[in-house]
Amino acid sequence: PLGFIDGKIVDIDALVVPLEDRGHQFGDGVYEVIMAIDGKYVYLKEHLDRMERSCGEIRLVPSFSREEVENFCHQLLKESGMNDAMLYLQWTRGVSPRVHSFPPNTRAILSGTIRPAKVIPPELFANGARAIMIPDERWLKCHVKSLNLLGSVLAKQLAVEAGCFEAILVRDNKFVTEGSNSNSFAVKDNCIYTAPANNLILAGVTRAVVMAKAQELGYTVKEEFVSPQFYKEADEVFLTGTTTEVMPITILDNEPVGDGKVGPITRKLQEEYWKLIGKK
Ligand code: PLP
Repeated sequence: PLGFIDGKIVDIDALVVPLEDRGHQFGDGVYEVIMAIDGKYVYLKEHLDRMERSCGEIRLVPSFSREEVENFCHQLLKESGMNDAMLYLQWTRGVSPRVHSFPPNTRAILSGTIRPAKVIPPELFANGARAIMIPDERWLKCHVKSLNLLGSVLAKQLAVEAGCFEAILVRDNKFVTEGSNSNSFAVKDNCIYTAPANNLILAGVTRAVVMAKAQELGYTVKEEFVSPQFYKEADEVFLTGTTTEVMPITILDNEPVGDGKVGPITRKLQEEYWKLIGKK
């Protein structure tokens, strides 16, 4: 694994983050997680596009051009010597004495790591995973991939403590938004439902790819908010994400989803997604 900061590649555990970096003190920044498979990034363009949008939303002006960032990503993968890797990339607003408002004359800092991907147990992909539904207590700009992740951290911790893979979040006790770090889908009567891409969810790169594939295969995909009760009564539930890929949820709040087995639509989309990214 390697680290990098401000254009320089460093040892992964080098002490290089300035104490007054605004990412460190305020979570004032945005990030992306991008996988490489067989020496090639998966959906690099889509991730860098979203990172530009996230920067725009928080009025962060990158200090490297899009082309420089992209070239740097390729250089990192090469220097890491890895074929399969997970790139973590973040922009922070820069370094300055602590003040809440944007400090004048700061330069945004790009930093991150490249390391082997976390391994999700294959049996979860094969047989399905467990999830709980809990209140969505995050802020109202979930469409920004912000460094402020406490809402997601606390949600995921509850999931882990409940022996679950993911926490599926419910806004205002009314409708499902997404997972703590994934998008969520429910299938009912051959129709696939997922939350619309507004400010209450992060519109995942994987979500878009899987929705497009589902439509290509002839399924109806509805971007509509549905209730937690709808999820409990669904035929199938699954999650999508860069590291989550297509993950079947077969137990939700301790009850089986549908017949408790991975459903045919989830399985089909999982296989098709793996084909698209070239996963073996
Ligand atoms: N929703 C949230 C809140 C996330 O943090 C993530 C990914 O980290 C996703 C959805 C999935 O997005 P993507 O498919 O782009 O990885």
